[in-house]
Amino acid sequence: MFNQRIKIKEVLAMVPGQGEITVMGWVRTLRNNQFIALNDGSCNENLQIVLELGSFDESLLKKLTTGSSLRAVGRLEDSQGKGQRIELKARTVEILGGSDAEKFPLQPKKHSLEFLREIAHLRFRTNTFGSVFRVRHALSFAVHQFFHERGFVYLHTPIITASDAEGAGEMFKVTTLSFDQTPRNEGGEVNFKEDFFGRPTNLTVSGQLEGELAAMGFAEVYTFGPTFRAENSNTTRHLAEFWMIEPEVAFNDLEDNMNLAEDFIRYLISYVLEHNRTDLEFLDARLAEEEKQKPQAERSETGLLEKLESVAGQDFERISYTQAVEIILQSPAFKKKKFKYDLAWGMDLQSEHERWLVEKHFKKPVIVTDYPKEIKAFYMRQNPDGRTVAAMDILAPGIGEIVGGSQREERLDMLETRMREMHIPVEQMWWYLDTRRYGTVPHAGFGLGFERMVQFVTGMTNIRDVIPFPRTPKNAEF
Ligand code: ATP
Ligand code: MN
Repeated sequence: MFNQRIKIKEVLAMVPGQGEITVMGWVRTLRNNQFIALNDGSCNENLQIVLELGSFDESLLKKLTTGSSLRAVGRLEDSQGKGQRIELKARTVEILGGSDAEKFPLQPKKHSLEFLREIAHLRFRTNTFGSVFRVRHALSFAVHQFFHERGFVYLHTPIITASDAEGAGEMFKVTTLSFDQTPRNEGGEVNFKEDFFGRPTNLTVSGQLEGELAAMGFAEVYTFGPTFRAENSNTTRHLAEFWMIEPEVAFNDLEDNMNLAEDFIRYLISYVLEHNRTDLEFLDARLAEEEKQKPQAERSETGLLEKLESVAGQDFERISYTQAVEIILQSPAFKKKKFKYDLAWGMDLQSEHERWLVEKHFKKPVIVTDYPKEIKAFYMRQNPDGRTVAAMDILAPGIGEIVGGSQREERLDMLETRMREMHIPVEQMWWYLDTRRYGTVPHAGFGLGFERMVQFVTGMTNIRDVIPFPRTPKNAEF
């Protein structure tokens, strides 16, 4: 058995005086041909490995370059030097894989996030991405734990769908048809009968519609999977492939839905505050450093940990869309034309409006409800006023929209009428409408963009830095 190593995170918690131990990992630096800083991804802190001068071959020492990998066996000792409590006094060091110091792109110095994105295959070996992806892992685990504790069923909804009715965004087509000799009908259109599924298919933009079907049997379900949007938006918060969590709950109204979403977000934050303290402290310091580079006026007033603790500890603000528009129109910022986009009742809030509301006005997350029906999806429940629907968006500081949700239209006639108005193919959606025909109930759900949540928790500005291999327009490397 080769792998008898102890993880560095565990080693760093041990006391000297036991027998020999084995560690393996990647060399961050070698100092004075004597001190190796070794990292294995279990935490950002390195283990110092001490080589007694003269006891190791010159040829070995030459290979101990940044990026090389090794196995070391030895005893733990109290460290003589500053900067670490303990160190490993090596008896043997064995190189597992060398790394050409001239060519290895990751030098032991500060690299820009933009540069690291170009070497995304290597950025797991940096402290920033170590912390980000450990936190990402913890958040996914917490997602499942939250719903599991509450008796929800985890539903795997399809990645390939035939429905293009959700209207959430542009879709990627899925096909096995040849581009050179596309089969066509007499009229010249593509003959999808010859395609793999015998009909046009796409990558899913949301698991919601299928989630609703299952909620009509299990009452409480959630999905957590990849979703795809071919939207050509090059922003710091849009990906073409992102992960979404979508609970769907029978018997919930809009208020129940808001309560669930708020509990969920605060649970996730509390979970990482409790379990990932060291990584969050690192990210807090990293963000503070980044903020220092900005002009005074653009700096955020609160640190990362402070922000997370405050969000976990207080209720979100809840206002209607109508109130939100009113507040923005009355604001000095709007009157002084500080916003790029115009706003009036009936128009969608732009991200600058959303961010002003949460960051400048309320200074905490805000749930905006009851949007005009014209700017929301067909399945949202119509309010008695005839103009708005029971929708809710949650806006978070630094991010903008993090959750989109609604109470669903459970009344068959209302739903069908709205679908026809919005040119949704009613016949094709027979299976969806069946839920309203057979035992329909009030129900509600929402979608939380997982990467936006990771951004919020880690304080990373760009969404490309919270998913291992980002997919964005003109970029699918790795
Ligand atoms: P936005 O207005 O920011 O584009 P949306 O209204 O299209 O968002 P929904 O369709 O309601 O978003 O999706 C639910 C959630 O999924 C959003 O609140 C957001 O957190 C996340 N989300 C949506 N689009 C993307 C994307 N392209 N990349 C990453 N996350 C996304
Ligand atoms: Mn969108």
